[in-house]
Amino acid sequence: MSQPFNTVRGMRDIVGENARQYHSIIRKLSDIAISYGYSPLETPLLEYTSLFQKGIGDETDVVGKEMFTFVDRSGHSVSLRPEGTSSAVRALITNSLTQNLPQKWFYYGPMFRYDRPQKGRFRQFYQFGLEFFGSDNHLSDIELICLIKEAFATLQIPVAFKINTVGDEESRADFKLKLVEYLSKYENDLSEDSVRRLHSNPLRILDSKSAVDQEICSNGPKIQDSLSAEAKCFFEKVRKSLQEMEFDFIEDSSLVRGLDYYDHTVFEFVGQTSGLTLCGGGRYNRLVGQFGGPRIPAVGCAFGIDRLILEGASSGAAKAIIGVIGVEENDMVATMKLSCELHIEGVVTICPMQESFSKRLKYCDKVGALCAFILGGEERKQNKVKMKILCDSLADKVLSESTKPDLAGLHRKSDTTSAVREFLFDKAEARSFITKYILQESCSEEPTNK
Ligand code: AMP
Repeated sequence: MSQPFNTVRGMRDIVGENARQYHSIIRKLSDIAISYGYSPLETPLLEYTSLFQKGIGDETDVVGKEMFTFVDRSGHSVSLRPEGTSSAVRALITNSLTQNLPQKWFYYGPMFRYDRPQKGRFRQFYQFGLEFFGSDNHLSDIELICLIKEAFATLQIPVAFKINTVGDEESRADFKLKLVEYLSKYENDLSEDSVRRLHSNPLRILDSKSAVDQEICSNGPKIQDSLSAEAKCFFEKVRKSLQEMEFDFIEDSSLVRGLDYYDHTVFEFVGQTSGLTLCGGGRYNRLVGQFGGPRIPAVGCAFGIDRLILEGASSGAAKAIIGVIGVEENDMVATMKLSCELHIEGVVTICPMQESFSKRLKYCDKVGALCAFILGGEERKQNKVKMKILCDSLADKVLSESTKPDLAGLHRKSDTTSAVREFLFDKAEARSFITKYILQESCSEEPTNK
């Protein structure tokens, strides 16, 4: 017998509750992004390798070690996207939108990095990204941070917010000189990668994963001592605005982020439970120019969705479900018709197709339906539905209100002491019942099946 297939290392299926959470997170983040004036963007998963080499930087771990790169059938080197910003910048230029500013975009989807898989680190992972092109006002950084704060509040995830500046080009030129002078004394102690970077891209030594490199860097010069007057002023405005907004933040002078394109503000939001970075970003004023466009300042960020799920993001209440069940085989089409009508009114229904009535009813119970609408020959003749309440909380609610006039017309069949009750409604009454008990009230609660 042949071996069953497995997923590629570091890649996995997202199924069941995780899949539900994934979609709920995407929906919530999209709604928030739209409310801040962002529009959706889709870019290909595959780009020319040179895009990322130029954008993220050859000497970064992401490009140097972690890309899924291959030569296509025409001999071009292409890579699965390891992040979204480079593609968004390319899209701005490719679609001739550089004169049509500002552009505020959000996107989500899989990213690929050939890193060592571990908790919260996958080779295929999912990001929700935001990019704001066309403003060098520090208030666009603040607005993005407000959006991120709102997102974490909505997802009910407590986070620590860390912020720093990596200055402008002038600041980094001065910092680079000081850093190289300092690190050159440790050439024999630094890791092989860092020694190479000392001559090609010394700033990237700051995000080395080697403990020895980190120890050496922690005692070295700091970017704060190299900031130009302009960079200092920009960061001061960011800091002051955050204070005025009464945001808690931690200034972390070691925060540099592992990608070459950042200028000025960089930030991370770290989960208080896992200690993992859940969202990172910052300003990038040079990237559009580097890709052949005009100089367009920009600021952006990306959430790691897999990590939001690990951190226990609230997926909110599931929408209440109503089962719609035919009693006999020849009731099934009418049942399906009723189910379709209910969908149109915004109700979530399931229409089970198991071979027996009892199995169909059992299935409704299993998936957490609040009640089942039952259609048999008799009901169809009378243009009525029988309703069976499957969930205690709905039964209690109906029982406590069943004496009120709007429910006076219903005919209660079963014993009132039983948790499961049956009612016979005409279809219009059944609809008003749904509006009253299911759409408005029960939807705000997670259905608790008995
Ligand atoms: P970056 O594009 O490196 O700024 O990362 C932005 C966010 O994506 C991080 O804060 C993480 O939440 C998430 N992320 C980055 N790499 C991975 C990975 N290999 N697995 C899971 N999430 C990741």
